[in-house]
Amino acid sequence: MSEEITIENFYSKAKSGKLFASQCIDCGKLSLPPRKICPVCYSTKATWRELGNEGIIESFTIIHVPPKRFEHEVPYGVCLIELNEGIKVLARTTMLEKLKIGQKVKLKIIDAQRNEWPDWPYFTIE
Ligand SMILES: [Zn+2]
Repeated sequence: MSEEITIENFYSKAKSGKLFASQCIDCGKLSLPPRKICPVCYSTKATWRELGNEGIIESFTIIHVPPKRFEHEVPYGVCLIELNEGIKVLARTTMLEKLKIGQKVKLKIIDAQRNEWPDWPYFTIE
């Protein structure tokens, strides 16, 4: 895929429900948020790589006092998911019974409608 590595292109892909990272062509490092310059070897050659949605819960916390926009979801969990590709993302879930360290989960993008960096799509687990 030769589309330029931009946050606008990232959002455009996220809106279709697909999670893409940038990948350095020289050393293979994956970056999310996507980066034009590799943080490991400083190469400026990067491409898009679609990530799968499977990973494990590496850590989590349960939120009882939320920011206003999430008041309707209380209590909810915020979990750090490590995807199979090694990329880590935060996801919210109201399925508290799934919150176990090491639990295999599938990630789903639930809201990628915001387009302004540094706002970020939301993820949940299914
Ligand atoms: Zn690199």
